[in-house]
Amino acid sequence: MSSGENISSSRVAIIGSGFGGIGMAYHLKQAGIDAFTIFEKSNEIGGVWRDNTYPGAGCDVPSQLYSFSFESHHPWAWRYGKQAEILDYLRHCVRKFGIASHIQFRREVVQADFNTQRGIWRLKFADGGVHEAEMLISAVGQLHRPALPKIEGQQRFAGTQFHSARWDHGFDPRGKTVAVIGSGASAVQFVPEIARQVRQLYLFQRSPGWVAPKFERPISPFMRRLFDRLPWVYDLDRLRIFLITEALAYAYNGHAWAERLMRLLAQVQLRIQVRDPALRRKLTPDFPIGCKRILLTTQWLPALIRPNVEVVGEAIAEITETAVRNTDGRIREVDAIIYATGFAATEFLAPMRITGIDGRLLSEHWRNGADAYLGMAVAGFPNFFLLYGPNTNVGSGSIVFMLECQQRYIVKLLRERAALGWHCAEVTAAAQADYRREIEQRSSLTTFAGDCQSWYKTADGRNTNNWIGSMMEYRRRTRRIDWTHYRLFRNQTATLTGQP
Ligand SMILES: Cc1cc2nc3c(=O)[nH]c(=O)nc-3n(C[C@H](O)[C@H](O)[C@H](O)COP(=O)(O)OP(=O)(O)OC[C@H]3O[C@@H](n4cnc5c(N)ncnc54)[C@H](O)[C@@H]3O)c2cc1C
Repeated sequence: MSSGENISSSRVAIIGSGFGGIGMAYHLKQAGIDAFTIFEKSNEIGGVWRDNTYPGAGCDVPSQLYSFSFESHHPWAWRYGKQAEILDYLRHCVRKFGIASHIQFRREVVQADFNTQRGIWRLKFADGGVHEAEMLISAVGQLHRPALPKIEGQQRFAGTQFHSARWDHGFDPRGKTVAVIGSGASAVQFVPEIARQVRQLYLFQRSPGWVAPKFERPISPFMRRLFDRLPWVYDLDRLRIFLITEALAYAYNGHAWAERLMRLLAQVQLRIQVRDPALRRKLTPDFPIGCKRILLTTQWLPALIRPNVEVVGEAIAEITETAVRNTDGRIREVDAIIYATGFAATEFLAPMRITGIDGRLLSEHWRNGADAYLGMAVAGFPNFFLLYGPNTNVGSGSIVFMLECQQRYIVKLLRERAALGWHCAEVTAAAQADYRREIEQRSSLTTFAGDCQSWYKTADGRNTNNWIGSMMEYRRRTRRIDWTHYRLFRNQTATLTGQP
């Protein structure tokens, strides 16, 4: 549809085409809602699985669980999906469920404003275009904007430098001296791959993470045949994996004995894989397990004991044209610097400018850290929902599971809309404040609250990213819509009529 001003419109506008946007599209279609458009700033679907192409990139959750419930019987080659395989899976879902025609590529949303008089959202794109929609759904995820540390002299460096999420495939590590800055979830996947090829690798770590084993293996032809012939065995395995990840959530949520068990597992692996006591000390975290994302791998520690790898614990003072200088004065000449420094995870929705009722700015509302009712709805921003929003990340489970809870919730809301006869729905400030209080209070009991710096928390230590319970609890709480938590507007002139 378009008006004389060349403004396109749809009932629902979705921003982003990763697991969030694609799953949302599937659930809308299932509910018979076809008037939706997905806007994607890139030229391809896939989100983080399109962007993170570094060697060894893959998932930490077995594929059976890290896949949509409506398309889980997929012939996965690996127990833990590799990046290319997961991207192919998403492409397959887009094809199979007729989602492709709904996606517009190279359409970066820069602004979205709620028009209070008309009760509609107006989106503006980087290319100058405009789109109007009754409902706006953000599916931009938590981890799509790489974070680069600000280090003195960085711009002077004459060699190759890039972030792991923007891997430079023209760079050949063979025979090179490489600095890797950061030792988180991405570094543990690509360092073992390139350590075999480089002449020398310096790993600059701020603080070591807890490392637990991940038993990666291809799905054998026997297992494949078994899953194909007896699909319930596959489902049973999915359930088994689900229960294991739920048990891990137990360890994060203030159950000391479960936390101790996890720590023991990590300590045993460290002791077996690193024999040198000095290096072991360097690699032993000083914060509770789970405070930062647990690193799942059996490859990382063996890579660090290689003779051509050095773990550097001192802080970086500056980068020169050819080297990295530490605060202890040591200078290490390098050919390349790879930043494994994660993502701007707590800056939800940035750099988009989102304004709600009476022009209130979302970034202003969130200046002390993002929060949203059930991670999805914000008071003052009617008909606006977030997928993978604040406090919906899980330390061990599957984000895809969490996303599907949110997608079903939003579809339910839209389905009940006709019956209740509302035009706009806005979560109440009281419901959002109660929810925020609960998150804050329960966060203080979790291991995330420990003394560590992690992407789960803002600079002042507020947990804005992680869910504080089990996946089952989140499922239960998003199963039904509590309409007493919403203000409903019955018509387009936005006359408030209160609860049904
Ligand atoms: C390396 C890595 C490994 C991970 N491993 C796991 C794991 O093991 N288990 C797990 O559960 N989760 C994992 N995650 C988390 C992962 O982010 C989620 O599982 C999931 O993929 C999130 O999907 P999403 O669609 O919400 O977001 P994304 O995949 O980030 O997709 C967001 C999309 O929105 C687009 N976009 C952003 N802004 C705009 C805009 N303004 N206009 C238009 N389009 C826009 C982006 O281009 C992108 O395509 C991992 C993440 C990374 C980075």
